[in-house]
Amino acid sequence: MFKRILIANRGEIACRIARTCARLGIEYVSVFSSADAASPHLDGAVATACLGDGPAQDSYLNIAGIITAAREHGCDAVHPGYGFLSENPGFATAVAQAGLAFIGPRADTIAALGDKARAKALMRAAGVPTVPGTDEAIDDPVRLAAMVRATGLPVLLKPTAGGGGKGMHVIRTGEGLDEAIGSAIRVARSSFGDGRLIVEKFIERPRHIEVQIFGDRHGSVVHLFDRECSLQRRHQKVIEEAPSLGLDETMRARLLEAAVRGAQSIGYINAGTFEFIVSQEQQFYFLEVNTRLQVEHPVTEAITGLDLVEWQIRIAAGERLPRSQADIRASGHAVECRVYAEDPANGFRPAPGRVDHVRWPAQARVDAGIRASGAVPPFYDPMVAKLITHAATREDALAGMRGALRDTVLLGLTTNLGYLRRILEDPAVAAGDIHTGYLDTRLADLAAPGDTRLAAACAAAASVDTAAAGPWSARGCAGPMDRAALNPDAPLGETQVRDGGTPIGVMLVARRGERLALRVGEWLVETTLAPAADGLRRGELGPLPWTARLSEETVAMQIGGDGYCLDISHDDTGRSLLAPGAARAPMPGVITLLSVKAGDTVQAGTTLAVVEAMKMENRVLADVDGLVRAVRYAVGDHVDAGDLLIELEPL
Ligand code: ADP
Repeated sequence: MFKRILIANRGEIACRIARTCARLGIEYVSVFSSADAASPHLDGAVATACLGDGPAQDSYLNIAGIITAAREHGCDAVHPGYGFLSENPGFATAVAQAGLAFIGPRADTIAALGDKARAKALMRAAGVPTVPGTDEAIDDPVRLAAMVRATGLPVLLKPTAGGGGKGMHVIRTGEGLDEAIGSAIRVARSSFGDGRLIVEKFIERPRHIEVQIFGDRHGSVVHLFDRECSLQRRHQKVIEEAPSLGLDETMRARLLEAAVRGAQSIGYINAGTFEFIVSQEQQFYFLEVNTRLQVEHPVTEAITGLDLVEWQIRIAAGERLPRSQADIRASGHAVECRVYAEDPANGFRPAPGRVDHVRWPAQARVDAGIRASGAVPPFYDPMVAKLITHAATREDALAGMRGALRDTVLLGLTTNLGYLRRILEDPAVAAGDIHTGYLDTRLADLAAPGDTRLAAACAAAASVDTAAAGPWSARGCAGPMDRAALNPDAPLGETQVRDGGTPIGVMLVARRGERLALRVGEWLVETTLAPAADGLRRGELGPLPWTARLSEETVAMQIGGDGYCLDISHDDTGRSLLAPGAARAPMPGVITLLSVKAGDTVQAGTTLAVVEAMKMENRVLADVDGLVRAVRYAVGDHVDAGDLLIELEPL
C-alpha cells in the first residue's frame, strides 16, 4: 500500500480524497495556487506545495510542478481527482515516468477513451450499442454536411475532444446547415484545441443513465450499479441519483452487463463511468467513458456502502478488487445536489466572492470545499459543495434533500440553492418524469429571481430590535425602523431599503412576539423573527426560511436559498452605493479591456470595460449617457465584485 499520496486537485474533491487517505492511514501532500493559500483542502496534509498563480494553467495544470512536488515530498502515488489533469494522458504518462503510481486508468486507455469517436468505435466493436451516426471525427465542413444528411435530422454535432456538455450543437433543419457546421468547428477549436466533430442522431427527450465500473490489474471488472443524471442544465448535471429511474430489471441487467463487457474488452483498470442515453422507446446507447472519479460518485457510495476513493487507491497499489460482483449490493435511494457559486437569475453567471457565514445541514452528507468564512476564487469551477441524502425510498431521499437545502446557509455568496429548491419542489421531478432537457424547458420558473419586495420586507424585519420592548409598541423597533408612529398605515414604524438605486418603502404594521406583519406597496408580508444569534437574524416567511446579516450599509440575506444584498444606509444625500453612473465590477476578476478614458462622453449601453473571471468575459456597460469623470483601474488589475471601476457624470 502507498505511504504518501499527492492530491493534484483542490476544493471539495481534494478534501474528499484527503478524508479517505486519513482513514486508511496514508499521508497526503496537497498542492495549491496562490489564490488557494488558505483553502481547507490543505488541512491535515503532511506537506503542501504552491504550484503558482491563481489561473489553472499556472498552477493546477502545471504538470512539471506537480511531479517535482511529489518527488520532493517523497510521495509514491498521485491522485488527480476530477477535472484539471485527471483525463490528460500526458499527465498519467509523466507520473509513471517519474516512478510514481497514477491513481487512475492506464494512459493509453485515457487517450483512447478521451476521443469520443475512438471510444464509440471501440465500444461498437465490443457489441455495446452506440448512438447512430458516424464514428469518424473530422473537421472538413463539406464531409460533415454529407454525414449530417446521411445520418438524418435531427442530429447533434459533438466535439470529439469535448467534455462538460460544451460545444454541442443540435441541428433540426437543413437551413443554415453550413453556417452551423462552421460555427461548431470554430467553437470546438477554441474550447478544446481540436475542431474535429462527430455527428450523432439527436435522441429526443432522452434520459442520461450511467454505470460505475471498476477494473483491477488482475483482469477482473465489476459494476457498482447505475446512476440517473437526467437533471441537467445545458447538458451539465445538476442533480444526480442512484439508482436510475424507470428501468425494469431486465433492462438494468442488460445495461450493467454492457458496461462491464465494454470495460473488459479494453482491459480497463481503476474507476470508470460508462455513460448512456436511453430513448423514450427504452433503447440505450453508449455515449462515452469518463476515465476518472465522477463528481456524482457519492450517490453510488451511499447505496453500496463502499468508499470509491479507497477502491481507486487499492487498485492503483496493485491489489485485487475489494469485492466480487456477488458481494456488491445496493440498497435504498440516494440523491446529490451540486451547490454552485453562480447566479441563476443572471444566466447562471459564476459568482465568486466572499462567504461570511456557512451552515451545513446535519441530515445530509456534505462534501464541501469552503470554510465558514473565506473566498471562492474566480479562477476555477464555481462548484463549492455537494449535498447527498440517502433513504429507503426515493421519496424519502428527496424529502431529506428538501430539508437539507432548507438548513443550508451560504450568506454573502450568490448560489444556486434557490434553484435547487425549486427543482426539488417541481411535481414532474418528484414523480421522476424527467429527461435531459427537462430543466431547460422549465428555466423561466426554476431560475426565476426571487421577488425583491420579499427581500425588502425581510431586510426591514431584520432591523427590528425584538429585545427592546413589549409587543404592539413603536418602541419595539430600533435602528432605521425607530420612527415616531405618525403614519397610521405604519403604526409601528417605516423604513426604506434600496435595491440598486431603487428605493423600496416598508412599513411595520403589526407585531406579536416573533410574528411581524409588514407592508411593501400593496403587499402584506408576514414573517417570523427569531432573537438575534451569532450576529445573524433569522425568520420564516411562510414556508421559506431566511437568514440575514446586517452591516452599517447593507443587509446580506438568503431567502429560500436565494441570495440578496440590499442597501440600508441612510446617508444625508440619499445617494445609493449603486447610483446611476457608477460602473462597478460585476464579479471578482481581471480587467482585460478598458475602452474609455477620463473626459470621454459615452452613451448608455456602451461597453466601458471587460472583466474576465472563470474564463468568462463580463462586459461592464454604461447605464446612463454620461461624461467619464474617472477611470480607477488599468488593464491587468485584479478587482473585487462591486469595486467602482469608472465614474460617469450623467448628462
Ligand atoms: P460531454 O462529454 O460534453 O459531457 P456527452 O457525450 O457526455 O458530452 O453528453 C452530455 C449530454 O448531452 C448527455 O447527458 C445528454 O444530455 C446530451 N446528449 C449527448 N448525446 C446526445 C444525443 N445523441 N442525443 C441527445 N442528447 C445527447
